[in-house]
Amino acid sequence: MEAGRGRSLDSMAFQWQALPGGKFHEGRGEEYSSWDGAATENRKFWLEIAEGRRLSFLTDSVTVRPRSWSLQERSAVEEYEPLPLLGEDEEVWGIYEWGGLDSLLETSQGSGPWEGSYYVSSQPKFGDAWLHVNEKFVGDPAYELPREECGVPKGDSINIPDLNEECDIWTALDNFRLQVVDHEHEHQNSLNKCIRTVNSSARFEAVESIVGETGAAAQDSARIRWTDGLRPALDSAMATNQVNERSADAFWWRRLSWVKANHGIKGHSGTDGCPQI
Ligand SMILES: [Zn+2]
Repeated sequence: MEAGRGRSLDSMAFQWQALPGGKFHEGRGEEYSSWDGAATENRKFWLEIAEGRRLSFLTDSVTVRPRSWSLQERSAVEEYEPLPLLGEDEEVWGIYEWGGLDSLLETSQGSGPWEGSYYVSSQPKFGDAWLHVNEKFVGDPAYELPREECGVPKGDSINIPDLNEECDIWTALDNFRLQVVDHEHEHQNSLNKCIRTVNSSARFEAVESIVGETGAAAQDSARIRWTDGLRPALDSAMATNQVNERSADAFWWRRLSWVKANHGIKGHSGTDGCPQI
């Protein structure tokens, strides 16, 4: 820890006295080591320059060093999987799941001069990120043709890429696959842009320095400074600002029937990176 004027107290023999929340506390310097927060508090200190001889009282602002919190950027692996239907016949072509952010930050009680004070004990975290693309772009499953198409006999079972290959419109299908992949990556890119903005802002500092007289009070502060203030910004960045994109015509298996038509990617009206935070 450091005194507000920059003096290191780590190696000093000192005593402290504090009155948090109306309770009197007194202790010695070594008890500071059990505090794991980043709080700034006004406390009184005195230094002993020789046994029994106090140099002076200090009334100073003491800051425990920041814990250097930062959000990790997301890096989802692209995976091809069967994806659920959205509605009656609307295919899901790709999904990006960002893992979500803790909405309630854990608090712990401090010790030493912060006895009775509560702080945010660990930084907000994400779950795992996933980037799924529909398996129909790359092969299985195969569907029976109700009539001959491009020389493939009626009754043959064939998958979407192979039928489009036979019909020489493979490029239209593959271009759309790449559009879907780019679209899903854009969710992650925009979120990571926002994460970099958050990391270079003073947001974490503000959360690290929260001190409340109860756990609930510390959580309320965390909600105001973190969850309420930033969660919507991260959500907006993850949503992205992307317009609708469509494929050229290609053959698709569209729940119980083959169609030759174009398909689209749902548009989003979020932001590219965070809105102003
Ligand atoms: Zn999307």
